[in-house]
Amino acid sequence: MVGGFNGEGVVREKEEEEENNKWPSWLQPLLKTRFFVQCKVHADSHKSECNMYCLDCVNGALCSACLSSHKEHRIIQIRRSSYHDVIRVSEIQKFLDITGVQTYIINSAKIVFLNERPQPRPGKGVTNTCQVCERSLLDSFNFCSLGCKIVGTSKKFRNKKMLGEADGEESVNGIRNNASARKKIHSFTPSTPPPTVVNYRTAKRRKGIPHRAPMGGGLIIEY
Ligand SMILES: [Zn+2]
Ligand SMILES: [Zn+2]
Ligand SMILES: [Zn+2]
Repeated sequence: MVGGFNGEGVVREKEEEEENNKWPSWLQPLLKTRFFVQCKVHADSHKSECNMYCLDCVNGALCSACLSSHKEHRIIQIRRSSYHDVIRVSEIQKFLDITGVQTYIINSAKIVFLNERPQPRPGKGVTNTCQVCERSLLDSFNFCSLGCKIVGTSKKFRNKKMLGEADGEESVNGIRNNASARKKIHSFTPSTPPPTVVNYRTAKRRKGIPHRAPMGGGLIIEY
């Protein structure tokens, strides 16, 4: 497991709408599918363990015998690492943007995990964690798995996160200094009522301004 490849992290804040629409329809079903179970159709066959998935049919786990009815379809193979489902980067990245998802080297192939997996105890001296499940990660990654990336880039999750931050700011009542004032403006959302008289003027001033107003900061600091 060596870091360094895929050194992204800067690109993560794109237009939100684009992000919400960009997941292919097969992805959620894929993440919910149970693999490495006996094939119901080919129970009598020797090698009937289901470790394939058809991106075109999206009809659950397939065994190698099933594949004969999926010729010309986009098939991916699921592998296992310590009882967790993984997929080779070389296979999935043709169909999916896995930027920000931590990759591992297993059996000399680069892989990503499909779903988050519980971490029994937090690592020591961890500086970077999955934005969703807080599993410890190498520095250049944002998510531990494809599943966490879907959650973490969803509008709902981000709004929740933003609100949480805004609440934290609001509880520090009044404006203390330049830095906190800036932050306050930045995390201000229209749904948050102006909490005190102190903020009345600034709140009023903010009203007509779109929340990304470039004139934030400096103007608002007045006692
Ligand atoms: Zn089968
Ligand atoms: Zn198919
Ligand atoms: Zn995670």
